[in-house]
Amino acid sequence: MPFGEPSGAVILKPEREEPVLRRHPWIFSGAVATWQGKVQAGDVVDVFSRDGRWLARGFANPNSEVPVRLATWQPDERLDDEWLWRRLRGAWQRRLDWRIPDETDAFRIVYAESDFLPGIIADRYGDFVVVQLYTPAMERQRETIAAMLSELLHPKGIFERNDLDTRLREGLPPRIGSLQGESPPEQLVITENGLRFLVDVWRGHKTGFYLDQRDNRRRAAPYLVGERVLNAFSYTGSFAIYALWAGAKRVINLDTSAEALRLAEANAALNGFAGRVVSLEGNAFQVLRQFRDAGEQFDAIVLDPPRFAPTKAVVENALRGYKDINWLAMRLLKPGGVLVTFSCSGMVSAEMFQQLLFAAALDAKREVLIVERLGQSRDHPVSVPFPEGEYLKGFICRVE
Ligand code: SAH
Repeated sequence: MPFGEPSGAVILKPEREEPVLRRHPWIFSGAVATWQGKVQAGDVVDVFSRDGRWLARGFANPNSEVPVRLATWQPDERLDDEWLWRRLRGAWQRRLDWRIPDETDAFRIVYAESDFLPGIIADRYGDFVVVQLYTPAMERQRETIAAMLSELLHPKGIFERNDLDTRLREGLPPRIGSLQGESPPEQLVITENGLRFLVDVWRGHKTGFYLDQRDNRRRAAPYLVGERVLNAFSYTGSFAIYALWAGAKRVINLDTSAEALRLAEANAALNGFAGRVVSLEGNAFQVLRQFRDAGEQFDAIVLDPPRFAPTKAVVENALRGYKDINWLAMRLLKPGGVLVTFSCSGMVSAEMFQQLLFAAALDAKREVLIVERLGQSRDHPVSVPFPEGEYLKGFICRVE
């Protein structure tokens, strides 16, 4: 079957067309009444309501929890190479319109559903592009996608970091390696707002760097000053570099990963801040308690933990975890100190996160003012019908 030709159709159960009409891009398995035709994973399919109305068109993976990912609501739009090219070019043009390349050479070019391209993530790191293709449909188009990204961006090489969980859940094998052109070095150097960072696209988290925090790093920098700043859940120390640049004397990077801390030290040296970062390898939940017991005090603290709530079932636990570290951090701040705190759990809304900060402030017996509200960088936009694309939220607080 050539790319673009629907091989079959999906008929929805009665009264299950509402989300599709509202342009939500996922059809869950529970909404499907029947499949028509010989549909293979990766094929294009049409979607119909029970009473035979054409609703949308998308890419199938019959055994997935999300058996269809919708890509158009226009009956005459074919999901073919031209569609792919239009959408990729559109995503790139948006980044140009937002002037992102003026401030950095590392940013997200394609953010899946939020760029109307389900199954594709593409990040630029200087001369290289790192892709994550996580649906059978986009896996089939990998050569075409690589050729198109090459034509748009002229990178030295395109690299796949196809080891994300979603891909495994879609039944695709993990794959890490070069997809086109040169292989990226073990560590490449990117420049963000004039600061330089080493990125390991082979083994680093996500595609190598937390691009979604870029706008927040800049917003938080002027608050991260003083004698002692603690950067908890530091990864490769990106917030520390911004803090030192803004005038902090010293920053402690705290993380469980020795490898991330090594890169954080190298990043400090790369920016002329050698000797002004301290690496602390340990579990933040324990280390913050040790600091409390030792009567340590900080001018500013960054808390950027990993996703505590990957599923609905564990939200309660996650909230307890967030409250615990935030409460401890508030206790550790000098009067007038700054807390920059994040949650990247999509299941935890900004409202829930704010409530939890209030509860933490009560327990810590401190007055807490929210000074700024943060989200994800603008290369990670949120498509209005797809709120699932929004996950990162943060607050800059002053703790009296
Ligand atoms: N702020 C970073 C990204 C943080 S990602 C940046 O902007 O680059 C979350 C980090 O938390 C990871 O590096 C992970 O190794 C670390 N981590 C996970 N659990 C931890 C724990 N219990 N204590 C300390 N660090 C932890």
